This record gives sequence, structure tokens and C-alpha cells, in this order.
Amino acid sequence: VLRIDPVRKVVVTDGGEIPFDYAILASGSATNFFGNDAIAKVAFDLKDLPGALRLRNHLIRRFEAAIAAADPAERRAFLTIAIAGGGPTGVEVGGAVSELLRRLLRRDYPAIPASDVTVLLLEGGPRVLSMFPESLSRAAERSLAKLGVEVRTGTIVASYDGTTVRLRGGEAIPAGTLVWAAGVKASPLPGTLGVPLDRSGRVPVLPTLQMREFPHVFVVGDAAHLETPQGPVPALAPPAMQMGTTAAKNLARLVAGEPLKPFVYKDPGVMATIGRKARRRRDPRSEAHRLPRVAVLAVRPPHAARGVPEPRRRLRGLGVPVRVLPAGLPIILSIEEDALQNKVLDEPARRM
Ligand SMILES: Cc1cc2nc3c(=O)[nH]c(=O)nc-3n(C[C@H](O)[C@H](O)[C@H](O)COP(=O)(O)OP(=O)(O)OC[C@H]3O[C@@H](n4cnc5c(N)ncnc54)[C@H](O)[C@@H]3O)c2cc1C
Repeated sequence: VLRIDPVRKVVVTDGGEIPFDYAILASGSATNFFGNDAIAKVAFDLKDLPGALRLRNHLIRRFEAAIAAADPAERRAFLTIAIAGGGPTGVEVGGAVSELLRRLLRRDYPAIPASDVTVLLLEGGPRVLSMFPESLSRAAERSLAKLGVEVRTGTIVASYDGTTVRLRGGEAIPAGTLVWAAGVKASPLPGTLGVPLDRSGRVPVLPTLQMREFPHVFVVGDAAHLETPQGPVPALAPPAMQMGTTAAKNLARLVAGEPLKPFVYKDPGVMATIGRKARRRRDPRSEAHRLPRVAVLAVRPPHAARGVPEPRRRLRGLGVPVRVLPAGLPIILSIEEDALQNKVLDEPARRM
């Protein structure tokens, strides 16, 4: 899609024009290099699987170059991977890259000692994962340190030429790889609508997810900017999927001449996976303060009196205190709400 013309009601594609009565725009986001074209040319971003594979292949080529390098300083530079941005993407990339490299070293490059590899996570703000509670940022930094990732906060990357990362303060860090995880903006498509956008290039939408100027066009996901009393809806997969459902239903209502419903985001929480062993999770209940305690009631059937009920085992696994009354009586599991909040799960990560 090259352009959307909401006045003429046509989508302009590289294969010609497609007329429409209603449209839903879901063009997502792109990496934001903040106008630094030099960095954009040589740094790696992570937007899709081909991008991840390109990075992996590049890292392997850097290892090959390191083995061939005679000069120890040059060798160290080949083995230095800098990551700009300590949000969830940067933190996850840092953990994953460090693990990948150490695994590769052990298996395929025993001549390179693990201590020669430097993985640097450079964050401009005072802490990584700034959208999480501070305790989780600190926990994330500890997890990263365990994986051999060096975290530097208050550090802004000013330029990169493929060999040297220059920081805003003037420091130069020789590095064979820079991964850019310092920002996203909307994809270019909203820019063709001819309406004012927010500063990330997103389309401001009504609570019904319609454009203010063109109610026959809905915008969802990362391309949309929806203000709520809790702040803008975040650019994440769960709101994108929920918005898709709401927009589809609202479109059907619009066609049927029925009143439209506002989008309400059901926040399932956020989790960052650091390497393959540690996760840092923010539970939305910690912010909602809805219930100081939760009591779960269940009736234990007499034939199961001797077994350990599954919910109890799972809650114990989470470190949640569980009280069980004698067999045959209702089981009362008393869950301290705090115990479920911001729990650090040091267990193998599963896909969400
Ligand atoms: C590295 C990374 C890690 C992430 N991790 C998480 C996570 O752990 N949890 C989470 O909730 N969110 C995560 N996100 C964010 C999440 O991926 C997005 O919020 C979500 O994908 C947004 O969905 P969307 O449908 O709006 O856009 P997208 O999923 O980006 O889909 C937009 C689609 O539109 C296509 N497109 C764009 N322009 C055009 C055009 N002109 N013509 C035709 N097609 C076009 C794109 O190719 C793309 O396929 C991550 C994002 C990145 C980059």
C-alpha cells in the first residue's frame, strides 16, 4: 500500500487503486532512528525474523573476523556488541545475544575466551525498563549482569560508523556491532492520510477507534494514538489485537446504523524475558489496587481428599501462602495480593 486517500476513498497500491467504503488501517510501527541516517545505515534493528537472522549471521561473521585478527584491540572491537536502548526490546536482545554468543563460543569457537566478548547495554535514562517498577529494573540489571551484559545508564549514543560507537559525552567505544532498540515510530502510511499526527507519527483516534476527520476510517494497533484517563494505550500486541476486534465490531455497527462502543483496554500485564532463565513481570493488579486480598473458594470432593490439588501446587510454586482446611471441607486458599505482584520468575521462559 503506497497511500490511503480518505477523501476519494481509495487505497493506492503498487498494483493500482482499490476503492473502499470503510477502511481499517493497521500498518504498525517502524524503527525510529531519530533522523540519524548514518546510524540507520549500519546499525541493526529488530523488527522481523529476517532482521533477527541478519543480526545472527553478522555476529557469526564478527567472530570469524575476531579469530583472524592479529591486533588484540581490533579483536576486542569485533567481539564488542553495543545495544542502544534499555527498554523491553534492548533488555531482551541483550540477554539473548549474550547467551547466544556464549553458547556459540563454547561449541564452535573454543579459541575465543568468553571474557573477550563484551555485550554493552546503553540506556539514556537513569534505569532500564523504565515503565516497570524500580525494583524490577534493578532485578533486570542483576539478571543481565549474571548473563555477562554490562549495563550503562545515563548514556546516549550519538553516532556509529560501523566500527565505533560515539557517546554524547564524547567517549568512543570500538564495537563491531550496534543493535538499535532505542525507539519506534509509526510506519510511514499514516503520513499519507493528510491529517495531523502525534509526534511518533500515529493517528489520533476517537474512543471508537475512528479517525476524527474521517469516521469511515478506523485505525488500530501501533498506528493509532488513543488517549485514555490512564494515558495513551501502549503500543503492544494485546491492545493491537483487542483494538482489531473492537474496530471490526464497530464497523459492523456503523454499517447497521447502530451506536458504536468505545474501546476499553484489558491490560494483561507486561513481561520481559531476559535470556532463557529469568523474566521480569509487572502485574496490572499492582496498579489497580482493586483487592488487598483474594480468597479462592473451592470444594474438595471427598475422593480427592488425599491428593494435592493442582491450584495449591501452582500457587505454592509461585511462593504464594496457601492454607488448606481438613479434607472434605471447603478449601480456602488465602492469597496475599502482594505475593502475586511483580513476582520474579526464575524459571525457564515459556512463549507468551
Ligand atoms: C523487537 C520487538 C519485540 C516486541 N515484543 C513485544 C512483546 O514481547 N509483547 C508485546 O505485547 N509487544 C511486543 N512488541 C510490539 C508488538 O510487536 C506490536 O505492538 C504489535 O505487533 C502491533 O501490532 P500491529 O498490528 O499494530 O502492527 P504490526 O504487527 O507491526 O503489523 C503491521 C503490518 O503492516 C505491514 N505494513 C506496514 N506498512 C505497510 C504498507 N504500506 N503496505 C502494506 N503493509 C504494510 C507490516 O509489514 C506489518 O506486517 C514488540 C515489537 C518489537 C519490534
